Amino acid sequence: MIKQFLDFSAVGRGRIVILSTLGTLCCIAVAFGIDSYSFETGTWRWGSQPLNNVIIPLLLAPPFFGYLLGKQRELAIAHRELMVVASTDPLTSCLNRRAFTAMVDRYLDRIAAQEAGHSGALLVIDIDHFKTINDRFGHVCGDEALKAIAQAIRQALREFDIFGRIGGEEFSVFLPGVSPDRAGIVANRIRTEVLATELNLGEESCRLSVSVGGVTFDRETSFSELYRHADQRLYEAKRNGRNRVEIVHHASPVSPNAQVGIH
Ligand code: GH3
Ligand code: MG
Ligand code: MG
Repeated sequence: MIKQFLDFSAVGRGRIVILSTLGTLCCIAVAFGIDSYSFETGTWRWGSQPLNNVIIPLLLAPPFFGYLLGKQRELAIAHRELMVVASTDPLTSCLNRRAFTAMVDRYLDRIAAQEAGHSGALLVIDIDHFKTINDRFGHVCGDEALKAIAQAIRQALREFDIFGRIGGEEFSVFLPGVSPDRAGIVANRIRTEVLATELNLGEESCRLSVSVGGVTFDRETSFSELYRHADQRLYEAKRNGRNRVEIVHHASPVSPNAQVGIH
C-alpha cells in the first residue's frame, strides 16, 4: 500500500497525491489573486477574505482533483492490462507474433542509431512432428506440450532476451548482443532443455524435441531479413534429421557468410 503512494507513474497513487496537492495550492493562489485584484481600479491590495480564499479551495479542490486523477489512473491501469492482453499469447504467456516482431524491430532500430553494438542472434524454434503428438494424444495434450516447451525455452534464456510464439508450434527468440558462439550455446541449451522435458500423459510418455534455425549478425539489419535467414536454417535442421541446431552468421557484406551446424 505504501509502495503505491510512492509510485508517481500514471498507475500509482503518489501521482494523485502530488498533483491534487499542487492543484489545490494553485486554486488557493488563484482565489487569493482574484480577491486581491481590484478590477475597478486595476490595483492590487491584500485579499479581504483570506479565510474564504483558503477554505473554499481546500474543501472543493482535493475531491475534484482526486476524482479526475483517480479516473485517469483507472484508465492507465486498464490501458496497461489491455496492452498485456494484446501482446501476450494466451496459451504460453509469451509474446505473440505481432508483439515479438515489433519489439525486435524496435530494438534493431535503436541499435542502428548507435555507433557500435550491432550484434545479436535470432532463433526460430519449431517443434518436431507436432502433428503426430496431436494425432496420438489429442489437441489438449498438444496444448500442454506447447506450454511445457515454452517453459523449457524460457529456462534457457536471460531475463532481457525476447521470446515469442510466432506460429502454431513455432517459437522465436531474439538474443541481444550475443556472439555467434554464445548463440550456438543458447540454441543447444534450448534443444536439450526441451529434450529433457517430461510430459505426463498417464500411461504413455511423449518425447518432445525441437529443431532450431538461427542467424547471428554484426551489422545493421531488420527482423524480416534475419527471419528469412533463420527460417532457411530451420528448414536445413529439419532436412538434416530434426532435433538439431543450424545457425548461419549474417556478417558484414565484405566477409562471406559462414555457416555453422551444431547438433
Ligand atoms: P515438423 O517436424 O516438420 O515440424 O512436423 P510437424 O508435425 O511439427 O509440422 P506440421 O506443420 O505438419 O504440423 C504442425 C501442427 O501443429 C499442425 C497443427 O494442428 C498443430 N498446431 C498448431 N497450433 C496448435 C495449437 O495451438 N495447439 C495444438 N494442440 N496444436 C497446434
Ligand atoms: Mg511449423
Ligand atoms: Mg513442427
